[in-house]
Amino acid sequence: MERTLSIIKPDGVGRSIIGEVVKRLEENDLKIIAMKMIWMTKKQAQGFYAVHKERPFFDSLTDFMSSGPAVVMVLEGDNVIARYRNIMGATDYKEAAEGTIRKDFATDIEKNVVHGSDSPESAAFEIGYFFNQFEIAV
Ligand code: GDP
Repeated sequence: MERTLSIIKPDGVGRSIIGEVVKRLEENDLKIIAMKMIWMTKKQAQGFYAVHKERPFFDSLTDFMSSGPAVVMVLEGDNVIARYRNIMGATDYKEAAEGTIRKDFATDIEKNVVHGSDSPESAAFEIGYFFNQFEIAV
């Protein structure tokens, strides 16, 4: 069993597609074991994306991620990190496969609706960043 962190980013929440994203997770047997709405401060967004702090888009990305509410979820299942990333689609929606969340809803390389952890190590850090043990329904 593996866990991953999913975020419906502020563009997805603002465009009222929380239900659409959750439907796709459930249809693909990605089990949600924790879920809440948050509004990150700029500092919290900088901490979350610290691995990208040298990238030219870091300031813009952290402005965007702190621009409104987001929904954070923990997903659990076999191979869930890769399975969820397949459903999300490529970072750049123009390169994302047909039928993926980003292909269908992203409007920009940055405003790409969803986040998903990319390794077991980043999943452990990211889940711990937003959830304590009492918030995860196991
Ligand atoms: P992910 O794992 O597919 O989310 O992609 P990355 O970890 O590479 O990047 C993190 C996030 O930064 C992406 O989801 C985008 O929101 C944003 N991002 C990535 N590349 C770019 C870029 O070239 N320009 C801008 N403005 N944002 C980017």
